[in-house]
Amino acid sequence: MPWCDSCDRYLTPTSLDDGTCPSCDSDEVLAPDVAAPVGRKLPWHFKLMTALVVMYLSWRVVLLAITVVDWAF
Ligand SMILES: [Zn+2]
Repeated sequence: MPWCDSCDRYLTPTSLDDGTCPSCDSDEVLAPDVAAPVGRKLPWHFKLMTALVVMYLSWRVVLLAITVVDWAF
């Protein structure tokens, strides 16, 4: 997807006017392969939510194991 550095946003390929940004008329619109967000840092709230989900699911596995042991023996 094309990326405009001046506007700091993605553009739809059909909105480009001869390769320039329709909002700021900047011709420094990056090609899709250059603009791919490789290595872009994940937001902190995503990491926090992932850590909390992993902790919750781990606790649920422990509870399941306790329940199975109580049921079996
Ligand atoms: Zn722009």
